[in-house]
Amino acid sequence: MERGTERAVAIERLAAVISECRKCPLWENTHHAVPGEGNPGADLMLIGEAPGKQEDLTGRPFVGRAGKLLEGLLLGIGLSRDDVFIANIVKHRPPGNRDPRDEEILACTPYLEEQIRIVAPKVIVMLGRHSSRYVLSFLPVEFDRITEIRGTVYPGLLFGHPVRLIPTLHPAAALYNPAYLEALKEDFRVIGHELRGAGGSAIQD
Ligand code: URA
Repeated sequence: MERGTERAVAIERLAAVISECRKCPLWENTHHAVPGEGNPGADLMLIGEAPGKQEDLTGRPFVGRAGKLLEGLLLGIGLSRDDVFIANIVKHRPPGNRDPRDEEILACTPYLEEQIRIVAPKVIVMLGRHSSRYVLSFLPVEFDRITEIRGTVYPGLLFGHPVRLIPTLHPAAALYNPAYLEALKEDFRVIGHELRGAGGSAIQD
């Protein structure tokens, strides 16, 4: 089987497993799991926190207002949703959009790790402090505030693959805060630059 097809099949199989997941109680109050979606051979993977209301209703990541903002940021570096792979730390919506708990993150992140192994992206962008804390723990890098480390490029090896890890703010934080929006735009310029360095396609200057 061709590598691209292999990846697509593996991602689909994993999504089917995630849809049936009962490893933690989060699924009980949800309509759909939100496994993640996009190009299974993407150079860029974006990792958010957890599905919100719209994501729970549709089964798709980042389709609400924060998602629209994210799409605009991607467009700014010449990419569409179809060029990238978008995932979350936890795959079912926490009730009332509360923060995911440690035990839920522990139960769910083997799925994210498998997605990273399959897609093998060159650049991973962590949206917000939860995904940044989780992914950077592998290096390990610790931080107090996401604003201290955002936009920094951390080269590392993740599950045997060389990858560049870039923490940034969660797009939802920028919906009402123009300074955060500027910071996100700045970080996406860094992301575009890194992708060009990584030989990523569909990037405009
Ligand atoms: N916020 C997230 O972190 N993930 C989503 O999928 C939607 C909103």
